[in-house]
Amino acid sequence: MQKVTFFKSIHVKIVLIYILLILLAMQIIGLYFAQQLEEKLIDNFEESIMDRMEIIEFSVREEIIKTRTDDDLTVEQSLRSVLNGFSSSSSDISEIRVVDSRYRILGSSAIEKQPLIGQRSADELVRESIVNVLPREQIKINEETDRRVWVTTQPIITVGGELLGILYLESKVENVYDQMDEINSILAGGTALSLLITAILGILVAQTISKPISDMRKHAQAMAKGNFSRKVRVYGDDEIGQLAKAFNHLTNRLQESQQSTESERRKLASILANMTDGVLSTDRRGRIILINDPALRLLNVSRETVMNRPITTVLGLESEYTFEDLIHMKDAITLDFGTYEKSALLRTNFSVIQKETGFVNGLIAVLHDNTEQEKIDMERREFVANVSHELRTPLTTMRSYLEALAEGAWQDEDLAPRFLNVTQTETERMIRLVNDLLKLSKMDAGDSELSREMVDFKVFFNRIIDRFEMSKSQNVTFERDMPKTPYFVEIDPDKMTQVFDNIISNALKYSPEGGKVSFKLSEEDGLLQTKISDQGMGIPKENLDKIFDRFYRVDRARSREMGGTGLGLAISKEVINIHGGTIWAESDYGKGTTIFFTLPFETDDGGEWE
Ligand code: ADP
Repeated sequence: MQKVTFFKSIHVKIVLIYILLILLAMQIIGLYFAQQLEEKLIDNFEESIMDRMEIIEFSVREEIIKTRTDDDLTVEQSLRSVLNGFSSSSSDISEIRVVDSRYRILGSSAIEKQPLIGQRSADELVRESIVNVLPREQIKINEETDRRVWVTTQPIITVGGELLGILYLESKVENVYDQMDEINSILAGGTALSLLITAILGILVAQTISKPISDMRKHAQAMAKGNFSRKVRVYGDDEIGQLAKAFNHLTNRLQESQQSTESERRKLASILANMTDGVLSTDRRGRIILINDPALRLLNVSRETVMNRPITTVLGLESEYTFEDLIHMKDAITLDFGTYEKSALLRTNFSVIQKETGFVNGLIAVLHDNTEQEKIDMERREFVANVSHELRTPLTTMRSYLEALAEGAWQDEDLAPRFLNVTQTETERMIRLVNDLLKLSKMDAGDSELSREMVDFKVFFNRIIDRFEMSKSQNVTFERDMPKTPYFVEIDPDKMTQVFDNIISNALKYSPEGGKVSFKLSEEDGLLQTKISDQGMGIPKENLDKIFDRFYRVDRARSREMGGTGLGLAISKEVINIHGGTIWAESDYGKGTTIFFTLPFETDDGGEWE
């Protein structure tokens, strides 16, 4: 914020206004007062002079018209004493002069003017007064003193109306002006003093106004920086006090709303950061202005590279859609952001940020990782197709055999038992298939309860091999490699038997005549490892992992021919997994296959095994 310069500050302005107003008022008052006073003083001065003039005129007239004897003083002598008496009694009168009607000076109160007595008066005013027989007055400068004097002339007239002469009076009017000057200087001093007092008062008054305002300014500056802790001091209950209160109230409201905005912002940021879905937001031109971490992860991009870039480019949609299209997009679209290693299908919904006026302010895109769901859906579709296929094949076979039987083959003693045998085999295979499916679905649902028992795994394994050895119809030799010490494993014996049945029957199924099936039990990396190898046809490397998938067979026709359901290894994998183990296969294509699985074990039976 800009700093207020000294001369622009309210403080200085208020003080200046005060001073100027007082100056103006004092000037007007002073002017009026001085003028009135001057007029009054001069009037009074003139009046008092005129009054004295009357008395002097009377005395002078009396002296002139007085009848004299030779012993008496001359007119001039008696006039001198009269005039001196008047002149000395009044400090305002500088000279009183008497001039007769023939312009001859009869007397003067001024000592320096005594030589003029008897001479003709050259004074213009005296002349005019004598000629016109009228009083005259004039202000002029006394040449000797260089001061202003008020000169008045008064004709001296007898009762009979005869003009005896002129009374000439010079009064010190300058005294009045001196007095005025004195008064004016007192007035000026008073003005200066009042200006000083005004300035001091102005500063104090201005302070009461400017202090709270400057407080509020500082407060507003602090608020702009986010500091809401300060409060403006309320100095009174006047308008400024009210303003300060309103300002404090505003601060509180602003702080509250800022806090709520901040908490909303934090909430939103935490929601955006912690949600699993990706969120992108654009400005009205479709450029990315916000992107959360999950979106960065799903799109496999960095924030710097996508900020301010068009959303269509970031989502890889520029060839199919424009930003306008996305604004009007009602349905979700699926984006494929999969890489070579990992597939990623993102279901994307768009919603428009719109003002009340309908003006589009931006677009929000929500990315949901749908890869798992899509995978499950695909597996489900595949599974249903597989099951239908697996069931249709035996059913078709059975239908054709049953049709043949119905059409008369049942009477054929050779064909009928063979045909019935086939339908029986197919029915058994279907039952096996349905049973396998049930087992799997139970394990999928987590319903299959394990009835665990602690068994010596070596004994358990040997018993199963014995069973196969006794019942085997092929020319296959069995080779066993068993450890000396017992290994106790807590297993569900029925389920584990199924696992062995599946693996060993596969090994026998694919073993050539005269082949060898080896069984090995050993401790590897703290786990009990079972290894069953055959010398059969083997499995191509690329199919090795898939043999544990449901319905997967390397050679579909051959497996079916051998009565397989394609679910055996899938069930085995589930059983081993729920026992806390792992199962895998290794194979040398054309030379043989080895199936491994590990299980956690204990060397002590815990007193259970007898
Ligand atoms: P099936 O009922 O078809 O035997 P499995 O799940 O048990 O189903 O096995 C899946 C597929 O794995 C088989 O169809 C077969 O192609 C392959 N396979 C399993 N064991 C062996 C083996 N020992 N030798 C060769 N191929 C095997």
